[in-house]
Amino acid sequence: MSKLEYLVIHCTDTPAGREVSANDIRQWHTSPVSKGGNGWKQVGYTDLIHLDGRVERLVNNNEDANVDPWEITNGAVGYNSKARHIVYAGGKGGDTRTPSQKKALEVYVKDFHSRFPDVKIIGHNEVSNKACPSFNVQLWKKEIGLK
Ligand SMILES: [Zn+2]
Repeated sequence: MSKLEYLVIHCTDTPAGREVSANDIRQWHTSPVSKGGNGWKQVGYTDLIHLDGRVERLVNNNEDANVDPWEITNGAVGYNSKARHIVYAGGKGGDTRTPSQKKALEVYVKDFHSRFPDVKIIGHNEVSNKACPSFNVQLWKKEIGLK
């Protein structure tokens, strides 16, 4: 069990306006490679932010400052034992967040930061050579008034 150090924001890399279900993500991540999935034991994200701003929990989490083995999600190689990963539906080709998703993400991140002020909030692209989550998390944090 490690201390929580990162909140990593992701996108599902799906087109603007297309809804994504928890089951879609489960299939992409945990189906065997032979069936087109990633073959992971667990899905990659703790929470999914739907187009309408609804936040759906995908993996149980007791909301303490540690990452318990059963809380680990597979969002970013090398960071999973000390990170929580969240994802919004969209992000293909750019920042497709709906106003509801932006608001939900803001509420989520501010609540998270108030409870875990030392945990770094970053985009997947800050620890990996990827476009995900298709927006600059550090700039956005400034826009919403987070340090
Ligand atoms: Zn990602």
